Amino acid sequence: MKTSTDVTMPTSLKPIFPNECVVCCSETFDTAKITQNSQNPISVFFMPILWLFRWSRVEFPLCRNCMFRFYFQRWGRWILCCALIAIAFPIIAPYYREWSPLFRKIAIGVSCFVAMIPYVLFEVFVPRSFNTTSYPKTTTYEFASWDLALQFYALNTQRYPKAEITIS
Ligand SMILES: [Zn+2]
Repeated sequence: MKTSTDVTMPTSLKPIFPNECVVCCSETFDTAKITQNSQNPISVFFMPILWLFRWSRVEFPLCRNCMFRFYFQRWGRWILCCALIAIAFPIIAPYYREWSPLFRKIAIGVSCFVAMIPYVLFEVFVPRSFNTTSYPKTTTYEFASWDLALQFYALNTQRYPKAEITIS
């Protein structure tokens, strides 16, 4: 089992990718885009309307052969995650029926998170080929390929020598 290699850089910078497919690592000039939301997840939890704002798109290299695999993984995991929440929520919610609305919301959120721990571990130890996690100030670009992450890191530190870019 291996975890992803993550490169974190300021959200305001446009990332530069090596011309290598994020899935198979072969040279490609084809690209794809994914959307990301850089809202603070805790703020969204308490004020879901915030989720409508701060969307952006990231363009990255993805060869035609890997397109289906990439999106199948991305949407497949999203559907799995939603399905687990849909199962966990009706089981958990009745336990907190007597609680005040705010504490009920927190308790249900924490309980759902605990119920999701196996899924979270699966996401950590079977990383997606490529994914991003965005916050108001920084965005993390997560690569399953260590080599690709290293190239991405080198390209961006070269392009933005003054920016705070880290790899882990
Ligand atoms: Zn590929």
